[in-house]
Amino acid sequence: MTADVTIVGGGILGCVIARELADRLPGARLVVLDQDMVGSGASRRSAGLHIPRGATGRVRRMTSYSQAWYERLLAGHPELPIRPVDMFVVGSGEDPPAAYVDDARLEPFDGPREHVPTGARMWRAHGAQYADVYQLTRALAAGLRDRVEIRESARVNALESTSDGVVVRLDSGERVVSRRLVLAPGPWLSSGAWRDLVAPLGARVKKVVALHVDGPVPPDAGVVVYEDVDAFLLPLRNAGHWLFSYTCQEWDVDPATVACGLSTHDIEEAGRALRDCAPSLVDRNGSGRVFCDAYSTTREPLVTALADDRVVFAGAANGSGYRLAPAIADEVAELLVPAPHR
Ligand SMILES: Cc1cc2nc3c(=O)[nH]c(=O)nc-3n(C[C@H](O)[C@H](O)[C@H](O)COP(=O)(O)OP(=O)(O)OC[C@H]3O[C@@H](n4cnc5c(N)ncnc54)[C@H](O)[C@@H]3O)c2cc1C
Repeated sequence: MTADVTIVGGGILGCVIARELADRLPGARLVVLDQDMVGSGASRRSAGLHIPRGATGRVRRMTSYSQAWYERLLAGHPELPIRPVDMFVVGSGEDPPAAYVDDARLEPFDGPREHVPTGARMWRAHGAQYADVYQLTRALAAGLRDRVEIRESARVNALESTSDGVVVRLDSGERVVSRRLVLAPGPWLSSGAWRDLVAPLGARVKKVVALHVDGPVPPDAGVVVYEDVDAFLLPLRNAGHWLFSYTCQEWDVDPATVACGLSTHDIEEAGRALRDCAPSLVDRNGSGRVFCDAYSTTREPLVTALADDRVVFAGAANGSGYRLAPAIADEVAELLVPAPHR
């Protein structure tokens, strides 16, 4: 089989990239390959929160771009599982945290202080939303099937550079020869097919843990972002519980084995973080989601050509791969097919 561009990885990122390329390359033969079902990797376990913040100028630009992209997507497809949510930022400093984009319009908030540590300052912010990333990814894939060949249970086990193109070999024995290839493998960085190609990027895989916290979720509850400890408390109204995300520091985990459930250590560590942030919700958990994500050395997403410059790596979005996917896809498309108007 031949393709103009093959995308390896059908997570949120691979599917948004496929959509961007399908728009820019009408008539091109585009293929997405996933070893599993589309959306079944990190995307399936994602908390799916978008907050309008970024630690660097590039990430703030990517944040604004992605926020506008998701707003347009939702306006055109209101049935998609993307839900705007009120947002409150909590911190100990006098001034509002500087990492927020201007459009977030942080303003001091003196209203109810549920789930806020005593003495902390609080600001209301604008622009947050959260998604069921698995359902969204599958909906995006469904909408692409007339323009993009989406192959599930198609595991890539080798990549080869030849004068005919980049050759991908599947477990089924099939070969796919492409002019260009995009690697969007999520946390599967050490897959034998591309481990050596990707290693120079220095990206690593970190465990990501979030607790599901029982307790009433009022219909108007907002997400609370705890700036000082890099954590958030998200009301998952549709699921009927809160989600508490904190920063787990377990590195170099394997996606094949990490999704094996909350450990005692996870529950204790997350419980300590929850006690600091929202003490009234402690002891209402024992449930959650565990997986991993790829992280870059700079904590900015990676979009870069590899040793064979026909192959582009996209990912390592540092636990923000949902919210930054549209901007990453734009950068990938700019590398492969620069927009004529820019
Ligand atoms: C618990 C948790 C909470 C999170 N919360 C948030 C959040 O609130 N906001 C946010 O923005 N981000 C969040 N993230 C991060 C975000 O979910 C990820 O960054 C994002 O889903 C990555 O998308 P992806 O498409 O790059 O990777 P994935 O969704 O992992 O997709 C990669 C795909 O590649 C496929 N693949 C791998 N190897 C092969 C192979 N050899 N052959 C073929 N296919 C292959 C996999 O099957 C997989 O489907 C969270 C992550 C986790 C785990």
